[in-house]
Amino acid sequence: MGVTFEKENIDSLDSKGEVLLTILSSLAQDESRSISENATWGIRKKFERGEVRVNTTKFMGYDKDENGRLIINPEQAETVKFIYEKFLEGYSPESIAKYLNDNEIPGWTGKANWYPSAIQKMLQNEKYKGDALLQKTFTVDFLTKKRVQNDGQVDQYYVENSHEAIIDKDIWELVQLELARRKAYREEHQLKSYIMQNDDNPFTTKVFCKECGSAFGRKNWTTSRGKRKVWQCNNRYRVKGQIGCQNNHIDEETLEKAVVMAVELLSENVDLLHGKWNKILEENRPLEKHYSTKLADIINKPSWEFDSYEMCQALDSITIVEDGQITVRFLEGTEVDL
Ligand SMILES: [Zn+2]
Repeated sequence: MGVTFEKENIDSLDSKGEVLLTILSSLAQDESRSISENATWGIRKKFERGEVRVNTTKFMGYDKDENGRLIINPEQAETVKFIYEKFLEGYSPESIAKYLNDNEIPGWTGKANWYPSAIQKMLQNEKYKGDALLQKTFTVDFLTKKRVQNDGQVDQYYVENSHEAIIDKDIWELVQLELARRKAYREEHQLKSYIMQNDDNPFTTKVFCKECGSAFGRKNWTTSRGKRKVWQCNNRYRVKGQIGCQNNHIDEETLEKAVVMAVELLSENVDLLHGKWNKILEENRPLEKHYSTKLADIINKPSWEFDSYEMCQALDSITIVEDGQITVRFLEGTEVDL
């Protein structure tokens, strides 16, 4: 039994065509391989001509119109925007997923069933800035319809402005830079997770020991005068019963005061920062621009009172030296020794 396709028919094949092929294949298994290869070629030609076919199932923010083009789903688009905004406020994919689940914000299924990995993927998906990367996966076996990740085996096609964007291109690029920064921060400090914005514990994963490089952790001490939140090098009692790192503990209140003092010092010397910030603007370095704006928001206030939400958007880390010196480093890059 033989199956032949006119070239035109091959060109019009899409994912539905793949299903058709599977059926035909069962009739003519011997021919299926060459047909599959031709069909794949046809689909790729279509991509090359910019006739975009994007699968919108399992895809938040868009619907398909009658011609198969992506159109914005306004309600879902709001959630997409919300996710990008919260990420740039410092929230992690984990905390964003938790918030959306707790508040029963529906995903593409209509249910609130959010996972950090899905949020992470959404933050990296170029479709939200209106572009489309085609052939991210490709079919290796038309009989089983098995698709695998395309790591260069077949060509990929990047189509700019293929549909209406939900996220401004500048914001999207900023998010990619911030994702890379958080990854570098985790690697630099050997952290399993980096919790940048944390309402209950704003200093977590931000305080480090100058002596041994380890992170400080929070301990709740109960004293005769009440409860104290105290930060201690995680290497202090790594081996049970033995004192490891000799660095001193520090009260959470002292950490708060250190940040306030650093902000005050910068407020008094704001002229020194303006030159630096102008250079950042001139050279158009988006992430540094973002963080200099966050720092400026704080130090331009007549008197800044400690605010953990604001601090988490501007503070990189605090380093504790055994002799008592504290270094406050801001995400904009400026360090203040106290
Ligand atoms: Zn230490």
